[in-house]
Amino acid sequence: MHQNETFKEVAAKLASEKTFHMESLFRLIRQPSISAQNLGVLECADLLQSMMVDAGIETQLLETEGFPVVYGEVLHPDNDLTVLFYGHYDVQPPEPLELWHSEPFEPTIRDGKIFGRGTGDNKGQLIAHVLAVKTLLELYGKLPINVKFLFEGEEEKGSVHLEPFAEKHKDLLKADIAYTADGPMEGKDQPSVTLGNRGLLYIELNAKGALRDNHSGNKGNIAPNPAMDLINLIRSMIDEEGTVLIDGFYDGILTPTKEELDHIRSLPFNPEATAEVIGIDEINMTVEEYYKKLCLSPTFNIAGFGSGYTGEGTKTIIPSEAKVKIDMRLAADQDPNQIFESILAHVEQFKSKSKISVDYLGGVKPSRTPMHLEIVQKVIQSVEISHGKTPVVLPALGGTGPMYIFTDILGIPSLTIPYANVDEDNHAPNENIGEKEYLDGIRTTCATILHLGDRI
Ligand SMILES: [Zn+2]
Repeated sequence: MHQNETFKEVAAKLASEKTFHMESLFRLIRQPSISAQNLGVLECADLLQSMMVDAGIETQLLETEGFPVVYGEVLHPDNDLTVLFYGHYDVQPPEPLELWHSEPFEPTIRDGKIFGRGTGDNKGQLIAHVLAVKTLLELYGKLPINVKFLFEGEEEKGSVHLEPFAEKHKDLLKADIAYTADGPMEGKDQPSVTLGNRGLLYIELNAKGALRDNHSGNKGNIAPNPAMDLINLIRSMIDEEGTVLIDGFYDGILTPTKEELDHIRSLPFNPEATAEVIGIDEINMTVEEYYKKLCLSPTFNIAGFGSGYTGEGTKTIIPSEAKVKIDMRLAADQDPNQIFESILAHVEQFKSKSKISVDYLGGVKPSRTPMHLEIVQKVIQSVEISHGKTPVVLPALGGTGPMYIFTDILGIPSLTIPYANVDEDNHAPNENIGEKEYLDGIRTTCATILHLGDRI
């Protein structure tokens, strides 16, 4: 795609304001906003709101049942196209702290990357939209399209209150497309666009055996072992091949179309490089298997397992409790509520000496947007204009976002364009965003606004 004079003018202004753009992200990172721990989230909402006001955006802090939504808009009556930018200002807990090479809430630059909790996920990607709008308003006084911002503070908790919020504010959020910058790009210097995302169901299984821990010699074979019982339960839920055995788990999954399968076969796939990013020796699968597993199939994952004595040396006990946390990434159109019901039924009929309970910790529906829509194609072109390189287009993101709220509740297409580098280490220690990737992101939002408004 052609980069015209307007685009070059914008790119030059962006380059001249690099210091301000870096400082803006640093300010946001220095304000912790850990939704899971209720730490600093409201303060971060206030800070974000004030930064948006400074950018020339009209804002409102809107209540939800949980943390507030920072809403913003720049509307001109003569524009007929509206983009809704979605992002989240909350972050994951930084633990384990000892694995960070610098303070998680003090942004630090090393090797061209900005390290800090929330740099990639999602503060760097969210503020990119704000800075893009600021830049265009300063240059031209107005935007060629309308923009709205929906920045929530609970994405890392599964966006638990966003659905009722969207139901309540359907008119305010009215737009032609939802645009999200989140997650890592597909590869080094490889921009990507995803047309949907997997959903999520997060549960915790708790098993209680005896009233207290017992001596494994004096009470062995007599007292129930809740850790063993949980292992047996999990084995009854998923086989060695990874096939989930819970009745109804696969209900509603969309069969990939021939076009989708043809498309994923044409996607780039470098097993060696991907294995290196993950930190494993090798990946033994075809390109089709890889993308089917990553975009079009669900997962069933043990995220944490705790029971008994795990300290140094020996302690011969029969633990009285065990718990396991399980997250499931759901493919379109699985329904997390229905799967949770199926799990309750499964556990109910599972025979065990321990008492096992199931807690629902969160659920998000999956979503998918058709590729052929004109506005979708225009956003894909915008990414190409910004990067001077054709983006990889994926049928769905492996990760989860609340995009069903856009596609199912607001009834608009939804795209995700990741701005962070492939090794951003989101959710892990030493989370980062590349300096280049961050600044490129601001330019990509500018390109989208200008291209959708037919200025480039
Ligand atoms: Zn995240």
